[in-house]
Amino acid sequence: MFTEPSNIAQKSGWIEIVCGSMFSGKTEELIRRLKRAKIANQSVGIFKPQVDNRYHASKIVSHDENAITANAVETAAHIHLAAKNYNVIGIDEAQFFDDEIVNIVDQLANKGKRVIVAGLDMDYAGNPFGPMPHLLSIANFVTKLHAVCMKCGGVASYSYRTTNITNQVVIGEKEHYEARCRACFNL
Ligand code: ADP
Ligand code: MG
Repeated sequence: MFTEPSNIAQKSGWIEIVCGSMFSGKTEELIRRLKRAKIANQSVGIFKPQVDNRYHASKIVSHDENAITANAVETAAHIHLAAKNYNVIGIDEAQFFDDEIVNIVDQLANKGKRVIVAGLDMDYAGNPFGPMPHLLSIANFVTKLHAVCMKCGGVASYSYRTTNITNQVVIGEKEHYEARCRACFNL
């Protein structure tokens, strides 16, 4: 389990990344950290890209139906505008944001904010997804989570697409994807 750095002893902000495949528990872990920040009386702003409307327009919902209220925003610049009101910023599904998110997250951390970013590190083809590789490079703390392989029960790092569509972005859940380990992903 990740033990949060405390705002008290830090001179600046920092960036935490939670990455991994679909169903690996990224959203669950993001919600856990954000709820604890709220318990610690931090002001918490939560954002997700508007394109991800799978469960709810104004909530982040995990596959286990854990939920927290979030702002659905069109672009990364919207996060920058809203972020001044908060000490802690949570961002889910960061892979869907434009590249500007990298600068914005960096600037927010430089201004003293704790920025927690969750996102898919790889797309359905096993390639780095959107701004995630860059975000991973500039992060201060990285947590890579794993799902259970739906074919063999092993450790899954890949989001295998079970349909024939080849667009990078296909919003969906169990009807389009399953978590797979390296061997079963490459079958
Ligand atoms: P992510 O945000 O990484 O897609 P979530 O936090 O939304 O993941 O969901 C994690 C939850 O998904 C787990 O706690 C579990 O209940 C459920 N789940 C469904 N399929 C799997 C799987 N193949 N491996 C692990 N967890 C799974
Ligand atoms: Mg998620």
